[in-house]
Amino acid sequence: MTKEYRYSNAVSLLGAVRVIFVGLISSVIGGGAYAYALAYIPFVYVRLLLTIGWSLGLGWLVANQGMKGNVRSPLLLATVAVMCALVALYFEYAVYVVALVKDGLDWTDFLPETVLARNTALLEQGSWSYGQTGEPVRGDDLKPIWIIEAIIIILFSGVGAHMFAAEKVFCEHCKRWYEGRLGEQYLSTGDDSALWDDVRNGDLSKLTQLEQFDGPEFPCLRVDVYRCPSCQDSNYYSLVKLYGRHKKEYIVKMVWIAEQDLPFVLNEQSSGED
Ligand SMILES: [Zn+2]
Repeated sequence: MTKEYRYSNAVSLLGAVRVIFVGLISSVIGGGAYAYALAYIPFVYVRLLLTIGWSLGLGWLVANQGMKGNVRSPLLLATVAVMCALVALYFEYAVYVVALVKDGLDWTDFLPETVLARNTALLEQGSWSYGQTGEPVRGDDLKPIWIIEAIIIILFSGVGAHMFAAEKVFCEHCKRWYEGRLGEQYLSTGDDSALWDDVRNGDLSKLTQLEQFDGPEFPCLRVDVYRCPSCQDSNYYSLVKLYGRHKKEYIVKMVWIAEQDLPFVLNEQSSGED
């Protein structure tokens, strides 16, 4: 009987074209800009933060464009983000060597054989040093750093896109995204098993019998509500048992619920909206 929330994975042609087009343009421009920034920033930790920030930014942008194009598949968005990350890496490698010598760019800088030859040479020579020695990091010492950088960019873009997209819920009735968890309430877990049987069978009114907490007190029960602001067709709730800050167990995960059966606490919260 229960209807769990799932992304429909529906993708319109226009939505797909939009996310791929904007994603690729951003990868090319962003990858180049990132390369220039790397060439001009001498601090290793700042560069690391920049790498992480840039990858998450790319992931966010892909998720954002995909959601604006009503792409209801975080997995597809993550795949597009990884593809964009690979393109961005290529443009980073092409531009970085040019930025180092402070030369102007032309189209021949982007030819695969040029990019490969220059970066092979760069790997042997190195371009930056770490610590007091002043010796550039190069060769076998530089290789793992390049690999780690590539992994960060690919992983953070892909995981980031999935994470940002999965934060929202799509209402298939209104054809719109809405904020994921709208409200939450913390309750005591109680020890009455008959009550729990009723709750498992969908009678959430029984939750009113449990003691309310102001915040998480472990163990406790968290009631999450997801509620479409424009219709009554796309409301969901989750019941999560929290055993500690990092230990939780879903009793019910994003199951559809009729408007009138929404947990009491959240009805009060959302009453001011309409
Ligand atoms: Zn709706």
